[in-house]
Amino acid sequence: MLLSLPTLAEPQHFSVVEKIIFAGMTIASGYLFWRRFGVVLNKILKSKKDPNFHLFPIGKRAWDFFWEVFCQAKVIRERPLPGVAHALVFWAFLAFALVTLNHCATGLGVGFLSPDGLIGRWYFYFAAAFAMACAAGILGLFIRRFLVRPKWLGEKLSWESGFIAFLIFALMATYLASFFVADADTTARILWWAHTLALLTFLPLIPHTKHLHLVLSPATIFLSRGSYAQIPPLSGDEDFGLVAGTDLTQLISLQAYSCVECGRCTEHCPAANTGKLLNPKEIILGVRAYLNDLGPASDQALLGKYNSQEAVFQCTTCGACEFQCPVGIEHVPILVGLRRGAVNTGAWEDDYGSKLFLALERGSNALGISPAERDKFIQKQALPIFDGTQEYCLWLGCMGGYDPKGREIVADFARVMNYLKASYGVLRKEKCTGDPARRLGNDLVFQQLAEANLEALAQNKVKKIVSICPHCVRTIQEDWKEYGTPPEIEHHSEFLARYAENLPQQGKEETIVFHDPCYLGRYRNVYDEPRTVAALAGTVVEAPRNHERSFCCGAGGGLAFLGEETGERVSHNRTAELVATGASTVGTACPFCNTMFRDALSAGGEAPPQLLDIAQLAARGLPGHSHE
Ligand code: SF4
Ligand code: SF4
Repeated sequence: MLLSLPTLAEPQHFSVVEKIIFAGMTIASGYLFWRRFGVVLNKILKSKKDPNFHLFPIGKRAWDFFWEVFCQAKVIRERPLPGVAHALVFWAFLAFALVTLNHCATGLGVGFLSPDGLIGRWYFYFAAAFAMACAAGILGLFIRRFLVRPKWLGEKLSWESGFIAFLIFALMATYLASFFVADADTTARILWWAHTLALLTFLPLIPHTKHLHLVLSPATIFLSRGSYAQIPPLSGDEDFGLVAGTDLTQLISLQAYSCVECGRCTEHCPAANTGKLLNPKEIILGVRAYLNDLGPASDQALLGKYNSQEAVFQCTTCGACEFQCPVGIEHVPILVGLRRGAVNTGAWEDDYGSKLFLALERGSNALGISPAERDKFIQKQALPIFDGTQEYCLWLGCMGGYDPKGREIVADFARVMNYLKASYGVLRKEKCTGDPARRLGNDLVFQQLAEANLEALAQNKVKKIVSICPHCVRTIQEDWKEYGTPPEIEHHSEFLARYAENLPQQGKEETIVFHDPCYLGRYRNVYDEPRTVAALAGTVVEAPRNHERSFCCGAGGGLAFLGEETGERVSHNRTAELVATGASTVGTACPFCNTMFRDALSAGGEAPPQLLDIAQLAARGLPGHSHE
C-alpha cells in the first residue's frame, strides 16, 4: 500500500551558487524578521515589571497552554467554523516545523529526513495530510475575510492578510505538488525554490503584521495573570495606574503586541453594541500604537491621542471581551488601569463620579443615603444582628441595605433562610465593599472601604458571608485580598441551590427567562445554581445570549451611578432580548441587574413580564408568603 503512494521529490544536489543564494536569502529573511521583532521584544522587556506577578504554581499555566494554544480549544469553542479552520492552519504549522527544518538543511546539503527512508517517508505523508487540511483551512479563512466580511473584522479589507493567506496556501501547494513530480525533474527544483521563496517572504512579514501573534500569543497565554479580570495592585505610593508609557507593564505590552485584530472582543462588548465610543479592540490597538510611536519610556499621556477617556469610562467591566479573546489579552485590568490613571491624577472630571466618591467617603454607601435608613430597614424586617454565634453573616450591600427593590430581595432571602432554619445575622454597621470605586479607578476610597470592612468583620468574628449581590461577592473575595484575608463568601444562588430540595416546588407552568449576571457567570463561573433555584418556581427558558455569552445589564464598573448613557441604553438592549423570549417572568440574581431591568421594563410596552430575583422566586413558594 505504502509503495503505491507517490513519494516527495526533492532536488538531489544543489550547486555552490545555489547554496550561496539560499544561505544569503535565509540570512536576509532572518535579519528582516529580527529587525522588527527585536524592536518589539525590546519594548516589551523595557516596560515596567508587573507588580505581584508569580510564575508559580505552574500547573494551571501548563494546562491553559496545552488547552488554549495546543488544542485551540477556546478558538474553536467560541467560533466553531472559523475556529476549526484556524486550528487546522495552526496544527499544520506545528507539523511543518520539522519539514521546514529539513527543507532548509537540504538546501545546504545536510538534509536529515529522506523521502526514501521509512521515518522520512512516513513523516512527509503525515505533513502532507496536514498540508491538505491547512490549505482548506486557509481558503476558508480567506473566503470569510474577503467575501463574507463580518463587520467585527473592520471596515477596511486587509490586503496584508490576503497576501499572507496566499503565502501559506503557496507553501502547502508547493509541498503537496512535490509528491507528483520526479526527483530529477526540473519541476521538483522549481517547486523547491518556490517553497523557499514563500517561506522566506513569510518570515519577515510575521513581526510586521498582526501575524506577530504566531510568536507572541503562546507566551501571552502562558504568562496570563492567572485569574479572570484580575485588577493588579498598584506598586507603591508613586503608582497612580496607567498614566503614561512608563506605567505600561511587560504583560500589557506583550498583550498589546499579541492582538490578532479578530474583533471578538468588540463583537461581544455591550458598549460597542449600543453605539458607544468604546471599542475594546481599538483600546488594545491604541496601546500598541502608543508603544510603536513613543515606547514604554515615554511620559506622554496614554489617554488623549491614542485612547479616549470617554471610551474608557463607558466600560461596564462585564469582561465579555476578556472572556472571548483567543490570545489571552486581559482587557479589564487595562481599562481599569487607564481609569485609575485618570482618577488618581485628577484628570477625570465627572459630576456623578465626584458625587459617588463623596457619598462613599462620607456616608459609606454608594447611594448617598444616611446609614440610619439601613438601621430602620433592619428593625422593620427584624433581621437578627450578627453576634459571632451564627453561621452566616448576611451581607446587605448598598443595594440590599438602601435600594427599595434590593431590600425586598433581602427580605425574601431572609424568609427563605428562616424557613431553612439557617443561622445568620447582619452587621450593625456595614460599608460599601468599594466595588464602584475599585472599578472606576479610585484606589484611595476603595482601600479605605476595604480596610474598614475587613476590620469590622474580624471584630465580629465573621467566618462565612452570604450575599445577594455578585459584585459584593467578587469584591470581597478577590479585591479585598490586597488588604487582608476576607472571610469565606458565597452568593445566595449557591446557598439556595444547596438547599433546593428542601424548598417547595411551585409547579412548572410559569416560564422564567434567567439573565446571567456578568459578575456571577463569567466572573464566578456560577451558571447552574441560579437556574436550579428559578426552576422551583417554573420552567426556565434561555435568552439567545446566555451563560458565558450573556449580555451585560449595563450597571457594572460603577456605571449604575454615572449619568446618562450615549447611544442605546445597554439595559434596554438586554431587556428587549429577554422580553422577546415570551417568558412571563424575568429571573435575576443581582440587585444591579434587577434595578436596570426594572427601569427598562417600565419604559417598555404594556404588560411587561414580571421581574423577580431568584430569592423572591424561592420565597414565593413558602407557606404563608404574600407579595405586597
Ligand atoms: S469589559 Fe465589557 S464593556 Fe468593558 S470593554 Fe470589555 S466587553 Fe466592553
Ligand atoms: S483583543 Fe483579543 S479578541 Fe480583541 S481583536 Fe485583539 S485578539 Fe481579537
